[in-house]
Amino acid sequence: MKAVVKTGENYGFSYMEVEKPRPKPHEILIEVEAAAICGTDISYNKWGQSAKDFASKFNVKFPFTVGHECSGTIIEVGSEVKNRKVGERVAFETHIPCEECFQCQTGNAHNCMNMGIYGTSCDGCFADYAVAPENVAFKLPDNVSFEEGALFEPAGVAMRAVEESQIQPGDTALVFGCGAIGLLAIKMLLACGASRVIGVDIDPYRVDMAKSFGAVGVNSLKEDLSAIVKDMTSSRGGVDFIFEMTGSPKVYETLFDHLRLEGRVVTVGHPGGPIPINITQSINLKGATIKGLFGRRIWETWWKLSSLVESKKIDILEVVTHRYSFSQVDEAFEQVNKGAGKIMFLKDRNHF
Ligand SMILES: [Zn+2]
Ligand SMILES: [Zn+2]
Repeated sequence: MKAVVKTGENYGFSYMEVEKPRPKPHEILIEVEAAAICGTDISYNKWGQSAKDFASKFNVKFPFTVGHECSGTIIEVGSEVKNRKVGERVAFETHIPCEECFQCQTGNAHNCMNMGIYGTSCDGCFADYAVAPENVAFKLPDNVSFEEGALFEPAGVAMRAVEESQIQPGDTALVFGCGAIGLLAIKMLLACGASRVIGVDIDPYRVDMAKSFGAVGVNSLKEDLSAIVKDMTSSRGGVDFIFEMTGSPKVYETLFDHLRLEGRVVTVGHPGGPIPINITQSINLKGATIKGLFGRRIWETWWKLSSLVESKKIDILEVVTHRYSFSQVDEAFEQVNKGAGKIMFLKDRNHF
């Protein structure tokens, strides 16, 4: 079979022939139908510092098949698989829990102490076929498409950010970063009854997408974000919620200025290193709450998201701007640099 492989510590990926995997006792084998490019894949493609840090934390061994956001049909199950069956349509959770540790046994399997990362600590899914432990396979409802299923993993991050914020109808929100997760968060916040959502980015393409998703789109390089926030929230002294989806240290220089007293910040983006924050002014005196998150609650977030998609309450496919086959992998990653929402790979029938 063909797969998109990271062969070593260098730029780019190789689209190459690899051995078709066989499921181990607790694994399932899927025929991949749809997959999506995530920020992690982009950083693996470039192989900069953040890729190196993440790869070493989660035990990367070269060569490995990249990709972790996907959906497909189960075509074979391992001898010990109990809950999944051949023919089922599934999407994969990226965080592979051990099911044995304190976190796993106390309802926090998404932040397992021995966590594996799909497509990093083992082969991923940018391939014709992929294996995964059965405990990361989420069965898709019949009326959820493979493309939607492949987006459950990233959309689940946005979903969980909204869940953790505890936002109420009528509240205001500021979203830093209008990539796929930021855009999906905007959609969910509006679906949850947020009165206003301000979407901020420095990329005009993304600001336009934020506007088309119903947010007040702000290009922070060209517009005065502080003035816009002040104007819109003057009666309450700032926004009720901030969602940080960029990981940019620059954002934190002014982030808390936009938050009202007793407001709440949810941090999703990962800055590359430590950044200075004035605890007294920005957190204590402000009475601010900060909630960090990594991954989706297994499986609460998935079920909630699945219900929203299944009931057509939100259309997560609106973030998809480009579709390719795996054989066009170089073209797909070039498109990332030119500007894109979510980029998807769809099963390349030419190979069969
Ligand atoms: Zn992802
Ligand atoms: Zn665990």
